Amino acid sequence: MKPWRPEGFTETVEKPCLEILRGNGRNGVIAVLESERNETVAVSEQLVQDVVKEIIARLQIDAGPGGSRGVFKDMNTAIEAAKQAQKKVQAMSMDQREKIISIIRRKTKENAEVLARMGVQETGMGNVGHKILKHHLVAERTPGTEDITTTAWSGDRGLTLVEMGPFGVIGAITPCTNPSETIICNTIGMLAGGNTVVFNPHPQAIMTSIFAIHMLNEASMEAGGPETIACTVENPTLETGNVMMKHKDISLLVATGGPGVVTAVLSSGKRGIGAGAGNPPVLVDETADIRKAAEDIVNGCTFDNNLPCIAEKEIVAVESVAEELMYYMVSEQGCYQADKEEVDKLTGLALTQKGLNRKCVGRSAKALLGMIGVDVPDNIRCIVFEGEKEHPLISEELMMPILGIVRAKDFDDAVEKAVWLEHGNRHSAHIHSKNVDHITQYAKAIDTAILVKNAPSYAALGFGGEGYCTFTIASRTGEGLTSASAFTKRRRCVMSDSLCIR
Ligand code: NAD
Repeated sequence: MKPWRPEGFTETVEKPCLEILRGNGRNGVIAVLESERNETVAVSEQLVQDVVKEIIARLQIDAGPGGSRGVFKDMNTAIEAAKQAQKKVQAMSMDQREKIISIIRRKTKENAEVLARMGVQETGMGNVGHKILKHHLVAERTPGTEDITTTAWSGDRGLTLVEMGPFGVIGAITPCTNPSETIICNTIGMLAGGNTVVFNPHPQAIMTSIFAIHMLNEASMEAGGPETIACTVENPTLETGNVMMKHKDISLLVATGGPGVVTAVLSSGKRGIGAGAGNPPVLVDETADIRKAAEDIVNGCTFDNNLPCIAEKEIVAVESVAEELMYYMVSEQGCYQADKEEVDKLTGLALTQKGLNRKCVGRSAKALLGMIGVDVPDNIRCIVFEGEKEHPLISEELMMPILGIVRAKDFDDAVEKAVWLEHGNRHSAHIHSKNVDHITQYAKAIDTAILVKNAPSYAALGFGGEGYCTFTIASRTGEGLTSASAFTKRRRCVMSDSLCIR
């Protein structure tokens, strides 16, 4: 069957900036990306709207309970389809699973720009150029079947193996901040482990999620696999999520999102992986290269308009370097230093009685300033101000390029303030320091799943840092950066008194 493509779609050409993913570059990703973004014209806004219309038309044609390439009207039907597909996946060789994964990788790169533009258009959040990079990162750095390993003991009493087996059908809930990135990343890992998956995506990102799910199932079919390795419903709601959480055929739940969804999954009575909220502080001490720290922090903070849960959300700087840091951020890194009146206006704008103003989440610094009547040039990419740690724009997880700087009288005070600001999420924290003892003290005190030293936060995902990529960081339940092995169960297989050939 011919894989579906929107009419007029041009395959995205590999861009030089993607060298960063292959380890040929390091910092400064953002600068390259910004120029990159202006050159990116392969997929127009109009084309993205046409893609959405096409998805809606396809869903209407396939409106029957049989569904369309993994998309169903009813959650129970979606789970049944994933269950049937899982029987086929479990019977596959690892090579066959890997073949599907390699096609998913290729298709993700081919569709990176469509997915990026759809995500921004549908959610109103983020930056197209950065989202393109995130899709390439997922395609290239998400572990596949190589992550499924066997442990063996052999000796006088025979041979014992511990193998990683599938859970079966996994129920996954995904956020609107990285909608297709999370769906593709989860599916690669879950499939490598022999599972299939049913998603209850964020309703605000449903078209982007459906496009990704169609793409995943097309990859499976192209490799001779089933049509429903990843399933969902046309209209995900809290109710469809509840059906999924209670369903007898779902044996593992994976929640990527804020505290509400993680708590819901962990209260379900089923095994759950909880990838929850963060509020990552970045600490800068007197031994840091301050100019580089300013560059790294602003690059990390502004990546995809601060949507990643790992991104720098506030700075704690020791007193002696705070001014110098602010100087470099403002004079060299495109930061706008907001005065008290502007900070008050931003606070009223970003934080409403009901919590975060969703219209501000993932918006650029220029757009946010525009909303309070401040016009700035296009090169302004971050808003900075000094404040106490209790200031709501500092203590709340904003997911906007607004960086409050908290002064600390010395390193111990800085650690104490950063630990307070992390709120016990145990998610991510970062530090700029050349003092190994300081780094160790901070790492022990803050105890997070991720700690990036002397680099932008995105180094933790594989941009300019070693290691694999994930968009589900299980901070609450302790798996850390999830990969295929996290979606498997350990099984011991014992042969007594034989097969030891030493
Ligand atoms: P969100 O919590 O509003 O939504 C996430 C998902 O959970 C959505 O699909 C939503 O429909 C669903 N949901 C929300 N409350 C629910 C409930 N009570 N029961 C069932 N489902 C529920 O989050 P968002 O705005 O989409 O994403 C941003 C949040 O997610 C931030 O807090 C960010 O830190 C976090 N996040 C964490 C990770 C990680 O890997 N740890 C990754 C991305 C985002």
